Amino acid sequence: MKIDILTLFPEMFVPVTDSSILGKAREKGILDINLINIRDFSEDKHNKADDTPFGGGPGMVMLAQPIFSALESIKAQGKKILYMSPRGKVIDRQSIESFAGEKEIVILCGHYEGVDQRALDYWNMEEVSIGDYILTGGELPAMVLIDAVARFIPEVLGSEDSIVDESIYSGLLECDQYTKPRQFQDLEVPEVLTNGNHKLIHLWQYENALTLTKERRKDLFDAYLEKEKNLTKDEKKILEKVVAKPL
Ligand code: SAM
Repeated sequence: MKIDILTLFPEMFVPVTDSSILGKAREKGILDINLINIRDFSEDKHNKADDTPFGGGPGMVMLAQPIFSALESIKAQGKKILYMSPRGKVIDRQSIESFAGEKEIVILCGHYEGVDQRALDYWNMEEVSIGDYILTGGELPAMVLIDAVARFIPEVLGSEDSIVDESIYSGLLECDQYTKPRQFQDLEVPEVLTNGNHKLIHLWQYENALTLTKERRKDLFDAYLEKEKNLTKDEKKILEKVVAKPL
């Protein structure tokens, strides 16, 4: 998959796109990230990429011209172009999965007060948000989006990491996790996880995940109850117990 990123701060991406899972995906050639500095396309002699807003008001607005020229340079006409914006629809599993299904996406990172509306309209950009809060620029939101999208691209995750087992994607929050040593200071790992009985371990993990989800995300828990499930007798008993347990 190719991701073109239009930004005024390309250097912000490097530590993230060069490290960990994204770095490995790039090394393997599964993910191609193309950083484009919008300022390089400015026709202004001082490489200006923003100006004061028509109608007045605080802050600056990103100029349409360098964005048009940057998009023309990558022949972006007809491609899916996302504009990171708090005015957009908040991303979720569905939108992330659908972006991951594209061969190429283009992401525009805003800054200051935002972007000249004509650039968004002309290029038919889809505004996407990462949540109801305001960040300084679209670079961090774009990194969040890229990381979440990359995890849905086949072969980006190792075979031992199944995306559908993760919190939210599985329909439940993930159960508590522990690692060695068995005792740290005077803190113990739950006995059941250390006894090697896989059936009991699975049932403990299921009950723990159900309980956490009921306590923290009643919306997810209720949706889980509505879903068709292929449960064993023991799992059914656990589910009934957690449903009956008062919060
Ligand atoms: N004046 C804008 C408004 O009220 O909608 C906010 C501008 S914000 C300071 C600068 C840039 O950060 C935006 O153009 C956008 O690219 C990015 N941004 C800020 N918050 C965001 C969010 N929650 N999701 C996605 N992008 C965001």
